[in-house]
Amino acid sequence: MNKNKIIVIGGGYGGLRTVEKLAKNPQNEILLLDKNSYHFAQTDVYDLIANENDFAQVTVDLFTFCSGFDGNVTFVKQEAKNVDFKNHKVITSIQRYGYDYLVIAVGARTKFRTDVIGLREYAYGVKALHRAMYFKQKFEMSLFNRVEESGTSCKPISIIVAGGGLSGVEIAAQMASFSKEFYRRNNFICRKLNIVLVNAGEHILNGLDKILVEKSDKRLKTLGVVIKNERKAVEVTKESVKLSSGEVLPMDFMIFAGGIEPNGLVHALDLDKNEMGYIVTNGHLQTQSYSNVFAIGDCTTIYNNDKVVAPTADTAEQMADICYKNINRLANKKPLLSHKIKSRGILIALGRGYAAAKIYGFYFNGYFAYIVKKIVEKVYEKRLEIRSRRGCKKIICD
Ligand SMILES: Cc1cc2nc3c(=O)[nH]c(=O)nc-3n(C[C@H](O)[C@H](O)[C@H](O)COP(=O)(O)OP(=O)(O)OC[C@H]3O[C@@H](n4cnc5c(N)ncnc54)[C@H](O)[C@@H]3O)c2cc1C
Repeated sequence: MNKNKIIVIGGGYGGLRTVEKLAKNPQNEILLLDKNSYHFAQTDVYDLIANENDFAQVTVDLFTFCSGFDGNVTFVKQEAKNVDFKNHKVITSIQRYGYDYLVIAVGARTKFRTDVIGLREYAYGVKALHRAMYFKQKFEMSLFNRVEESGTSCKPISIIVAGGGLSGVEIAAQMASFSKEFYRRNNFICRKLNIVLVNAGEHILNGLDKILVEKSDKRLKTLGVVIKNERKAVEVTKESVKLSSGEVLPMDFMIFAGGIEPNGLVHALDLDKNEMGYIVTNGHLQTQSYSNVFAIGDCTTIYNNDKVVAPTADTAEQMADICYKNINRLANKKPLLSHKIKSRGILIALGRGYAAAKIYGFYFNGYFAYIVKKIVEKVYEKRLEIRSRRGCKKIICD
C-alpha cells in the first residue's frame, strides 16, 4: 500500500504537534521543513531576555527531534519559497518536494510598521531567536556599563517597550523584575532603570478579561514600569522615541512588540487570504482551493462564534490536533472533523515569582499562578526533550 507523503512547513508549536501526531500512523511518511535548525519556544522568551534561561533552554534541535521517531519523519533545514499547488510541490531554493498532503504552519513575524520612522533601524523584535539574543546581550551590557560608571555618574537606562499585548507586557515585567533583583543582590548604588510601556489602546492587554488587565496593570506599576496608554511611537532615533502625543522619550533601546503580520512565504502563496493577509481556511482547517492543503497556527485566522481566536501557542496546538486527524481521515476517505477551537486559558508571566492566570474560567494570580506557568512550560519542554534525546541516542548509536 502506498504511503501518505505529508510535508509540514514550519517546526513551531503547530508544526511539531502535527508531526508528533501524524508519526503515530505508520502509513504516514512525513517531511518537516524549517528554515531554522531549531524550534524556538517563543513563550519562554521573557526568561531568556532576563537571563533566567539560556538559548539552549528555549530551543529544540529539529534534526534530533525528528530522528526520535520510528523512521517515518525526516527533517530538512530549508526555507520554503513557494508552493506549486497544482503539481503538489513545495519549492525551496535547492529542491522541489512532492506531497500528497501539505500542512502550512509557518507562524507570523513582527510587523515593523513602515510609517514609523526609524522603527526597523533602531527597535528590536523578539519573534526571531537571533533578535531576542541580540537584545538580551544589549540589555546585559547596559547594566554592566552602568555598574562600571557607578561612582562617577549615574545615568538612568531608558527602555521603551512598544506594544501592550501579551509579549510586551511579559517582557516589560520581566526586565523590571530582573533588574530590581540584580541591583539589590549586588548592592549597586546606581539603580536607575526606566521602563516605559507604550500602548495604543485604552488599556494594556486589549481583548483579555478585565480582571487580568487590572492585575497586570497593578503589578507592572509595582515593578516601576510606566504605562503610557493611548499613545503610539511615531518616530524612533538612536536615542529617543517620539510618541503620537508629542512627548519625546529618551531611549537606550527599544523593543517593538506592537503587532504581527504574515511572513514572506504566506505573501508568496497563491491562496485565499483575508484583509490582513492571513490564509483563509474552512471549518476543517483546509485552504479554500485545495482540500489536501491545511493551514494552522499564527499564519491563519480562525473564529469561534464569529470572534477571532487569539493566535497563541495553545491555539496552534489545538489546530494541530484537528489537522492531523483530518489528514488521516482524508487518507481513509472518512468524513472530516470541524474545529471548535477556543482559548483554554491564559497565563501571563509578570516578573520573577508572579503571574496572572485564567484557566478554564478560573482566575488566580501571584506565586501559585507563576508555578502553574512554569509547570506548563516544563511539561512542554520535557515532551520535546524526550523525543530529541531518543533521536540523539539513535544517531550516536547508528
Ligand atoms: C514574547 C512572546 C510571548 C508569547 N507568550 C505566549 C504565551 O504565554 N502563551 C501562548 O500560548 N502563546 C504565546 N505567544 C504566542 C506564540 O508564541 C505563537 O502564537 C506561536 O509561536 C504560534 O505557533 P506557530 O506554530 O503558528 O508558529 P511559530 O511557533 O512561530 O513557528 C513557525 C515556524 O515556521 C518556520 N518558518 C517560517 N517561515 C518558513 C519558511 N518559509 N520555510 C520554512 N520554515 C519556515 C519558523 O522558523 C518557525 O520554526 C508568545 C509570543 C511571543 C513573541
